[in-house]
Amino acid sequence: MSDLLIRNIRPMGGAAADLLIRDGRIAAIGAALSATGVAVEDGQGAIAIPTLVDAHTHLDKTTWGMGWYKGRKGGSLQDLIDNERNARIPLGLDVHRQSMRHALQLIANGTGHIRSHVDVDHDHKLTLLEGKLRTREALRGAVDIQIVAFPQSGLMIRPGVYDLLDEALAMGADVVGGLDPSSMDRDPKASLDAIFRLAEKHGKPIDIHLHEYGELGAFTLEEIIARTRAHGMQGKVGVSHCFCLGAPNPHRVGPLMEQVAREDIRIFTTGHPSAEVPSLQDMRAAGIKVGLGCDGIRDTWGPWGQPDMLHRARIVGMKNRMRRDDELELLLDAASRGGAEAMGIEARGLVVGAAGDLTLVAGETLAHAVVEEAPRPLVVKGGRVVARNGSLALAGITMP
Ligand SMILES: [Zn+2]
Repeated sequence: MSDLLIRNIRPMGGAAADLLIRDGRIAAIGAALSATGVAVEDGQGAIAIPTLVDAHTHLDKTTWGMGWYKGRKGGSLQDLIDNERNARIPLGLDVHRQSMRHALQLIANGTGHIRSHVDVDHDHKLTLLEGKLRTREALRGAVDIQIVAFPQSGLMIRPGVYDLLDEALAMGADVVGGLDPSSMDRDPKASLDAIFRLAEKHGKPIDIHLHEYGELGAFTLEEIIARTRAHGMQGKVGVSHCFCLGAPNPHRVGPLMEQVAREDIRIFTTGHPSAEVPSLQDMRAAGIKVGLGCDGIRDTWGPWGQPDMLHRARIVGMKNRMRRDDELELLLDAASRGGAEAMGIEARGLVVGAAGDLTLVAGETLAHAVVEEAPRPLVVKGGRVVARNGSLALAGITMP
């Protein structure tokens, strides 16, 4: 926690002001602030926003910084899962090293909060989690990392994975994950009952990958909604992707979105290029809290992506046919403050009393800042400068 005075910034694209951070929190915003014994930065008139938030990624999967991976395959979801599980060890994919690379790039690009799923399966047991827990510890104070214990290869179809998830949560994973309770686990009742049982036992929230399309996905989502209500877990349940809410059937999707909003279920979307995704504008209009995420970056699944939430926001914006400035402002909010809100963490924005986390962005307006491909001039976490002009400024930490 640090003190910092940043001169000449435009909070949320408004009038130029100075911003003072004391003990890691915003203490004052105003004209010509003075403070003694405080580090000073010149914002040079740049727009300031709350730090960016990657609310759905997989820090344990990236090959970033390694040699080019030539073994990517097409095929079904199951083919991609199997290819990755079999490739990890021959590839030498060291999770601590790779998650450091991935997270440090996110920090350099202005991200202050990350929710990362970690694979828990028979082959790797809890070793991937251990690597990521080390990364979370190494980067404490520079970025906050929530870890989701994620049964990537299935839960009910792989006896023993339930106990591994149980152990992962006891070891420090923050969130209970899940994967396609109907199409992957072939038993939505047993799968969801297990997930909610773990959440209740450990007092932790839930985030379920739901790729299931159409009516099957809608059925599974209804089961998630029913359990959220029955367990009184409003605000504690998230669904990632939720492609079924992207179905071109407003008579089915509209009421489902209303129920999702009523039970305060959070949706995490990545603008997936090869699927019908739920409309960000429609979800926000329905009152749903939505987070955006980069998902997998240059991993065994696919070659695409950058560890940069503005890069991802542009993909989500294109996918959602966004053109107007108000839509781009909504997009930027979902990639920053809104994502934090969806993850269940403080999301007050740039106001006195809020956490001293902010990112300066290039551009004349908030809308311009989304589309402008330029390094972030300054990234501040808890009043400490962690990156400058796209490069890390973390003493003692170098890119592995
Ligand atoms: Zn994912």
